[in-house]
Amino acid sequence: MLKKVETSPLLSVRNLRIEFPTRRGTLVAVDDISFDIAPGEILGVVGESGAGKSLTGAAIIGLLEPPGRIAQGEITLEGQRIDNLPYEEIRRIRGRRIGAIFQDPLTSLNPLYSVSRQLVETIQTHLPLNDKEARARALELLDEVGIPGAGERIDHYPHQFSGGMRQRVVIALALCAEPRLIIADEPTTALDVSIQAQIITLLKRLCHDHGTAVMLVTHDMGVIAEAADRVAVMYSGRIAEIGPVQEVVRAAKHPYTHGLMGSIPHIGHHVDQLTQIEGSMPRLQEIPPGCPFNPRCEEATDRCRVERPNLQSVNATEVACHLFDKAGA
Ligand code: SF4
Repeated sequence: MLKKVETSPLLSVRNLRIEFPTRRGTLVAVDDISFDIAPGEILGVVGESGAGKSLTGAAIIGLLEPPGRIAQGEITLEGQRIDNLPYEEIRRIRGRRIGAIFQDPLTSLNPLYSVSRQLVETIQTHLPLNDKEARARALELLDEVGIPGAGERIDHYPHQFSGGMRQRVVIALALCAEPRLIIADEPTTALDVSIQAQIITLLKRLCHDHGTAVMLVTHDMGVIAEAADRVAVMYSGRIAEIGPVQEVVRAAKHPYTHGLMGSIPHIGHHVDQLTQIEGSMPRLQEIPPGCPFNPRCEEATDRCRVERPNLQSVNATEVACHLFDKAGA
């Protein structure tokens, strides 16, 4: 069943443009993208590496690395504009209202500190709890994310946990301050397939239980199909297609989404070879005019090589492709 999207979004991104000034000119890494995430909703953002999905996540949590900069657009969290806040203020929001989970748990965990110390410190940074209360909360969190024997393991160091268990600890860290939004960037990519499934199930449960919204960034359409309520497919810094995940998975419209869907293995269907999209995504300095996908698209026409397609509604989804352009049809 489709989860109903509440009317007022928790996160709203409007006309976001991210640029990298270079000596040879300005490169546009994210080009005029807009989307919302509702409370309790998981929005999957999928695309190849370099599509702009991680940069979008970094911009939301205020971790865009210079010289990258937001050149245009607005990001609002629960009605408050957050893209133009001073560093200290966005740092407070990150952690308190927005949690982050990255691909490699070791980038979020300090190898020199026990898990209890890291959790207690993070909890006390955001919540007015004494040592005993913070430790009790840390234990609760480890329990909640499914660390067996949390009472004994809480004083262990990160290297004493397996990859999957470490990622659970990172999720516990992200949840310390009961954030309203979690940005999860490739949270399962470094894990075995069976552990991936467990982490996805955990994220979905937490999202459901706490009403936390999740922006799930991944290159893996299979993960999106499992986890997300809605999906935004990104290509060369733009949204190619966005809509409810069942609709996009069942009836992909954009030729690029078709290609991504063809690369998911389906249990029970024997295929000799998974389909692959020929070629690769253009580098930022080589994005062609018109539709950025046109050099790889089997449906491309002359118009696609000169005119940029805008997102337009087709059934429950929005698609940026001239094939669906009623005016041009
Ligand atoms: Fe292909 Fe043209 Fe659609 Fe782009 S606009 S995806 S090139 S058909």
